[in-house]
Amino acid sequence: MTALDTDALGAWVREFARAVTEHRDELTELDSAIGDADHGTNMDRGMTAAVAALDATPPADAAALLKTVAMTMISKVGGTSGPLYGTFFLRMSGAVGDGSPAAFAAAFRAGVEGVVARGKAEPGDKTLLDALLPAADALTEAVGAGQGLDTALRAAADAAAKGRDSVTPLVARKGRASYLGERSAGHVDPGAASAVLLVEAAATTLARS
Ligand code: ADP
Ligand code: MG
Repeated sequence: MTALDTDALGAWVREFARAVTEHRDELTELDSAIGDADHGTNMDRGMTAAVAALDATPPADAAALLKTVAMTMISKVGGTSGPLYGTFFLRMSGAVGDGSPAAFAAAFRAGVEGVVARGKAEPGDKTLLDALLPAADALTEAVGAGQGLDTALRAAADAAAKGRDSVTPLVARKGRASYLGERSAGHVDPGAASAVLLVEAAATTLARS
C-alpha cells in the first residue's frame, strides 16, 4: 500500500470526516466568536456527504476518490470553506503521482496552492492557510530530507497546529472574521482548526503507508 492509493486516501478522508463530526460543535463555537457559527455544521455536512458519495459509488482510483470529495464539498457546503476545501481536494486529485512520499507531498502542496489561488489569502491573514502552508512546508522538507512518511506527516501535523496557534493573536484579514476588525484578535480561527484535523487525520491514517 502506498500513501496515494485508493484505500489509503479513502481511510484519510473517512478519518477526517469522523474528526470533523467529533469536533463539529467546537468548530461551530469558534465560528460563533468571529464568524456566523456555521463552520462545524458546514464541514460536517460536506464531509458526511462525501463519505456517503464514496460509499454509494466506490471510486475507480485515487484521483476519482479525491474528485468525488471535492465536488461534494463544493456542492453541499454553502459557506466559504466548502469551495476552499473542494479546491484543495480537486487540485490534489489532479496531482496524484506514483504513490511515493514525495508524490504525496507534491500533491498536498498542489492542493494548498489551489486554496491560495482560489481564496487569495496570504500567510498571517488568519485563515485555514495558516495551518495548511506550514504543513505543506514541513512535509516537503521532511520528505526531501529522506524521512519516512510517518515522520513527515507527524512534522506536518505539528506544524499545522503551530500555525493555527500562531495566528490566534492576530486580526483576521480575510472572510467574515475580517469584518470584526480588532475584535477578531485573540480567537482561534475556525478554518485553521479544521485544517489541523485534516493533517492530523493524514498523520494517523497514512503514516504506515
Ligand atoms: P463562512 O465564513 O462563509 O461562514 P465557514 O464558517 O465554513 O464559512 O469557514 C470560515 C473559515 O474559512 C475561516 O475561519 C477561514 O479559515 C476560512 N476562510 C475564509 N476566507 C478565506 C480565504 N479567502 N482564504 C482561505 N481561507 C478562508
Ligand atoms: Mg461561518
